Amino acid sequence: MRVDDTLSRLAGTPPYLILFVSGKCWMHCSHCWFHDVWKAEHHHGEPLTTAEIEKIARSMHRVSFLSLTGGEAFLRDDIVEVAGMFGRLTRLERYDIPTSGYEPDLVHGKVREMLRVNPGIPFRVGISLDGTREIHDSIRGVRGSFDRTLETIELLREVKRKCRNFDMGIITTVSKHNQEHVRSIGTLVEEIFPEGEWQVNFIRGDPRDPEAADISVENFELAHRMIADRIERGCFGGHDFGFLGPWLSAKNSLRRKVILEHVRKRRAGVRCAAGTLGGVVYLDGGTYPCELLQESMGNLRDYDCDLSRLWNSKRASEVRKMIRRNRCFCTQECFLTVSILSSPSKWPSLIRERFILRRARSSLK
Ligand code: SF4
Ligand code: SF4
Repeated sequence: MRVDDTLSRLAGTPPYLILFVSGKCWMHCSHCWFHDVWKAEHHHGEPLTTAEIEKIARSMHRVSFLSLTGGEAFLRDDIVEVAGMFGRLTRLERYDIPTSGYEPDLVHGKVREMLRVNPGIPFRVGISLDGTREIHDSIRGVRGSFDRTLETIELLREVKRKCRNFDMGIITTVSKHNQEHVRSIGTLVEEIFPEGEWQVNFIRGDPRDPEAADISVENFELAHRMIADRIERGCFGGHDFGFLGPWLSAKNSLRRKVILEHVRKRRAGVRCAAGTLGGVVYLDGGTYPCELLQESMGNLRDYDCDLSRLWNSKRASEVRKMIRRNRCFCTQECFLTVSILSSPSKWPSLIRERFILRRARSSLK
């Protein structure tokens, strides 16, 4: 049996799971790959019901990391129930929800409910901020979204102050439409959220506006340098809850370097763990190794929503084999996370980044 099949079998189900729970969204972002054309081509059925998601959760034992996403996950009516289900039925170690933060009261209310149903489980919300007011509103295609996002950030900062297992990060997707403004975005993020983490993502997939993907790596690198500078000055927070928390921030530092390596050298700087330790389940139960490959591993509805059976099926093994054969590499941040954390060759660099973060913070005390 090949190493990746052995690992998948040992894990049983992907320890790192991205679960799409909503196809709805308030925004119309130019960099978005999860747009109507993509959905029409890829979704072949109704969204998974609450009962079906419960079956998926029951088929999983340990979930190291769960991302509840969409679209806008907070627009799913039973989102609190879904989060609670994983907290109750699996050994859920950490979960997160990315959001545009467009509805401050709704997001704030649901976050508080989730913290109630999953007490003590590390939970992070990643809020997207793509520019200063005019740029953000123009990229997001919704006037007024910048001000509302800032309101959500303020509300969640307050939650973060009160609740140890809650964390928030600000995420900027670098695209053609904001790449020239990376410096002002970084300065803004530091102003409005000095105690937190700024995460920059490289635009990916086939965006709604194809031109949005036309970016220069130097602009991404500038964001990387600004973050490194903040770390050096001790003005950079990040994951800090539990044993794993600080390692995740170290991983984010290393991940930016791996992304730069992938873009510049056009070769894999780490062995991809998608399809082995990480996977994606779309709204209709379609299961994939990641969000970029079009190779389906099957649909959960054909397995009575038993992810363990699907994950260890012949088809899933074929997809893993194809990933190995093609020596696939990309800049997809989520899968770089699981790839970096599970690659022993990356651990010395990870320890170095952890040391840098720790030294920077303690120098401030
Ligand atoms: S990028 Fe996210 S917030 Fe923007 S339209 Fe797509 S799903 Fe919605
Ligand atoms: S390298 Fe990227 S595209 Fe290839 S399998 Fe991994 S996450 Fe998917």
